[in-house]
Amino acid sequence: MGQRRVAVLGSTGSIGQSTLDVIAAHPDHLTLAGVAARSRIDLLARQAARFHPPLVAVWDDERKAELERLTGSNSVLTGLDGLIRLATHPDVDTVVLATSGYEALVPLIRAIQAGKRIALASKELLVMAGELIMRLVQEHGTSLVPIDSEHAALAQCLAGVPKDQVERLVVTGSGGPLWGKTAAQLSTVTRGQVLAHPKWQMGPKITVDSATLMNKGLEVIEAHWLFGVPLERLQVVIHPEAVVHALIELVDGTLLAQMSPCDMRLPIQYALSAPERWAHSWPRLRLTELSALRFFAPDRAQFPCLELALKAAASGGTACAVLNASNETAVRAYLDGHLAFADIPRVIADALGDHATVAHPSLEEILEADGWARKTAQERIHQCSPR
Ligand code: MG
Repeated sequence: MGQRRVAVLGSTGSIGQSTLDVIAAHPDHLTLAGVAARSRIDLLARQAARFHPPLVAVWDDERKAELERLTGSNSVLTGLDGLIRLATHPDVDTVVLATSGYEALVPLIRAIQAGKRIALASKELLVMAGELIMRLVQEHGTSLVPIDSEHAALAQCLAGVPKDQVERLVVTGSGGPLWGKTAAQLSTVTRGQVLAHPKWQMGPKITVDSATLMNKGLEVIEAHWLFGVPLERLQVVIHPEAVVHALIELVDGTLLAQMSPCDMRLPIQYALSAPERWAHSWPRLRLTELSALRFFAPDRAQFPCLELALKAAASGGTACAVLNASNETAVRAYLDGHLAFADIPRVIADALGDHATVAHPSLEEILEADGWARKTAQERIHQCSPR
């Protein structure tokens, strides 16, 4: 494999920073060709100064002057056009999508159409538009590899296994910060408890999704599209130790598991190295330091967001775009102090209940459903009183 030239959309977020660590650790394999971010412009400028990527982009036009001053460059790209130019540039062969929201959908689609190899951390994009994205990946003969740890684990378990030997895919989850709490405890949960994930250091949006278990629901939808496996062959299992990131069950009952430390650099590196594997100096799992590996069925009554996600997945079409958009809107409102934690699933359930699903949607229909759901969720949030 030659040198991979990597562009990172969302370089200042948690996954983006870890991606740059991986690139820095493997200068013989990887070159940073471009960075783009929405916020933390100071950090974006430091990344540009450290790695000298030829392409630098910022989402908001208003931040262009600030970034050009900080980097001493006069060729900063901005806006949707800038992101598309970065994601489709001839000097880029791999695009890492590490934004936490839906805004990168159009740049992702353009990158696929330009034949770029995609390493995808933004599960929201597959939830919104999985059918369309995977069809375009096929049509353009490129590849889309997951960065999400469970899906990177599934990809490793599935490597070389004929599809007709696979009975089931099992996605594990630590249970998040609220696992094991009673209904009474959940009703009085504080923001500090919600944002204190026991196993993973992540951005605020995904940490709230982990607390509601929406994250596992989104991951089931993500796995369904990535691996072309029907929903009834996907299982969610709670595994508090978070050592086994996923398993596959074969037709003869054999289980194959992927185990590694909770370190996002590992799935990021595999997404960039596959099918190769590269040695590194980060901590490894020591089997003799593990005392127990426990597995539980998720409590769906206690965590209604998981159930809502599975229902939206069964409806298909634009229902998953509505699920994702209403969830993002509700989580944002929660983080901003405008919505109580317990009202997050109510906002999502109402949006899904009011939506007329469109099957096999086009990009325009997906974006329309997304916009409708954000507006509908926002109206519902105004009716709910915050804690
Ligand atoms: Mg995950």
